[in-house]
Amino acid sequence: MLEEKSAGAIIIYKSDNNVEYLILHYPAGHWDFPKGNIEKGESDFDAAIREITEETGLTDLKFINGFKKTIQYYYKKGDQLVKKSVTFYLAEANTKDIKLSFEHQGYIWLPIDEALAKVTYQNAKNVLKEAHRFLTQKIQ
Ligand code: ATP
Repeated sequence: MLEEKSAGAIIIYKSDNNVEYLILHYPAGHWDFPKGNIEKGESDFDAAIREITEETGLTDLKFINGFKKTIQYYYKKGDQLVKKSVTFYLAEANTKDIKLSFEHQGYIWLPIDEALAKVTYQNAKNVLKEAHRFLTQKIQ
């Protein structure tokens, strides 16, 4: 079985009392967070930074310590089954200005409830819920 490992982040933008989450529209049709393949010899954290910069143009991210979640899923590539794991960090952007790469067909910033409705897959929704809970607990 093929195995793939990707890394990325849930990216937030804060203004006044609002927090919005960045979600990308993947060419396969799903909505998910910025992420991409970890290259040989690269750490998942370095891969997350590289992929986010490539996919969104964001460079000045503030990573929020203590959040790291990995999900796993299987998908079919032709007739091959791929076992994929994706590690997500949590980071704050200082701008909502996104320069989307050719790898995606759209993006949107949304508050938590709408973001949860927009993200396609349940395991990604769960990571988003955990990130939101993590942020809420940090503020108190
Ligand atoms: P990457 O952004 O990691 O380079 P990619 O765009 O090549 O990845 P994925 O986003 O992993 O690939 O999508 C590959 C397949 O897996 C697609 O068919 C997609 O619908 C499906 N998929 C994506 N995310 C999930 C998920 N969280 N759970 C189940 N299936 C998923």
